[in-house]
Amino acid sequence: METNRPDPGFYEEQAAALRVIVAHAAAHPHLAAALAAVSLDALEADALTPAELDQAARWCDREAAVADALAERHQRAAEAGVPNAAYRCVCGCSAIRHAARVTDDRRVPCTRTGCACDDLTYAPVAAA
Ligand SMILES: [Zn+2]
Ligand SMILES: [Zn+2]
Repeated sequence: METNRPDPGFYEEQAAALRVIVAHAAAHPHLAAALAAVSLDALEADALTPAELDQAARWCDREAAVADALAERHQRAAEAGVPNAAYRCVCGCSAIRHAARVTDDRRVPCTRTGCACDDLTYAPVAAA
């Protein structure tokens, strides 16, 4: 019958792996700081190869860009006094059609094919 007894080999392997990390982190303060900053929420794999760490970093970059664009839409909507951040732009398209990331010069271009709008500008709210 199968028991739930822990496998000593597993813990020995983990301890050895952690000691390699500890030794390198001690020699490289920037690595220690990076390890301290990593949230387990950002990691999906339980075996962290360089490729998986790179994938996690790319995922975080994408999430940061999306969060930045959302924050930009909300800020512009608040400043323009429009009902919500999905409200339409002066180009006639919804703010959601505008890029999911802000350009380096802080523009939020429209992504609809054929639309030349290069920066989300909320249309004035029509008087009721
Ligand atoms: Zn637009
Ligand atoms: Zn547009």
